[in-house]
Amino acid sequence: METERKLPDRTAGQEKTEEKSMAGNSATGNGAAREAALWERGVRRVVPYTPGEQPRQAGIIKLNTNECPYPPSPQVKRLAAEFETELLRLYPDPEASLLVKSIAKRFCVEEDQVFVGVGSDDVLAMAFLTFFNTGQPILFPDVTYSFYDVWAQLFGIPWRRPALDESFRLVKEDYLAPNGGIVIANPNAPTGICEPLSVIEEIVAKNPASLVIIDEAYVDFGGESAMPLVDKYENLLVVQTFSKSRAMAGMRVGFAVGSRKAIRYLRDVKFSFNSYTMDAPTIAWGAASMEDEAYFQETVGRVVETREYLKRELASLGFSFPDSRANFLFASHSHVPARELFEALKEAGIYVRYFPGGRTGNYLRITVGTPEQTESLLAFLKKYLEEKA
Ligand code: PMP
Repeated sequence: METERKLPDRTAGQEKTEEKSMAGNSATGNGAAREAALWERGVRRVVPYTPGEQPRQAGIIKLNTNECPYPPSPQVKRLAAEFETELLRLYPDPEASLLVKSIAKRFCVEEDQVFVGVGSDDVLAMAFLTFFNTGQPILFPDVTYSFYDVWAQLFGIPWRRPALDESFRLVKEDYLAPNGGIVIANPNAPTGICEPLSVIEEIVAKNPASLVIIDEAYVDFGGESAMPLVDKYENLLVVQTFSKSRAMAGMRVGFAVGSRKAIRYLRDVKFSFNSYTMDAPTIAWGAASMEDEAYFQETVGRVVETREYLKRELASLGFSFPDSRANFLFASHSHVPARELFEALKEAGIYVRYFPGGRTGNYLRITVGTPEQTESLLAFLKKYLEEKA
């Protein structure tokens, strides 16, 4: 079952805004102004993305937004300690050259094949704005990163969402029809499933009239990257992030690697919007993180080891899940509803992510934490499920 959106749905956003303004009115005792004021006619109304909760209480086990459970590279810590605040007087390097160089070196591409942004959300948003302007619907699966339709709506891009099959696998044929662009998260979120590179390559090769974005936010945890294809296909853009495998979600670094031509188009749009998006510490510390390959390999290895352990233990408690290649599991219990478990876990100070409704409504997305966090999670679930039995 596929969902289709020809035009961005402004109605839902409108209702939300009106609800808010009505609440404001009743608080001030002015119940009359139910209709939008004249100035509101020109407002761009959108339904925003809902980011995962960021609880600040001490003692929380935070497994809800796929952060790395280990600290960033010690090189980042060293640079942070030495950071000279005098530097903040000046604008940062708009080219972020140091960071771009380190990424180009790591992936064996030229510097003009790299584009950096403030988190991969920034890079993806810029890519939507740059490449998806034919008026034809862009394509992404019905179950995937829930920011894609938000950007499409924001930029007035029509979209279609072909359904993943019953095992949450991509149906390749759906992406071989005419389209205005394609976005595929691989591994996918929230399922963790990684499609083979041969499938990705076929989609890119058979869509020479579209720009294809492969969002590889989770690829370092065992996915197959499309990076080796960037010199072969001008219409391919591979997007990655420092937020997961490089433990720098709080720093906001994302990047795209692609053909020189595609990167030039992206840069033109970015420099027509805001030149100085990335601050000086981020550029320097991001480069240091990218250079520390040994630490990266070590921490990613630990996360993967814990994930495989978590798979075995959750399975023995009656959970099932797709075979994740990411730093999270998308798990469903044989008889206890996901919502109930989500609430019980939260009550116990263990935060996981829950996407109510539709095909995701009986699953929990559980980030892989440290071994200690994993033991606490498993101990809680074991006890809870035993008490229910
Ligand atoms: N893509 C996917 C699939 C994600 O899950 C996320 C994290 N929410 C992002 C992109 C954005 O990550 P960031 O902006 O932190 O790089």
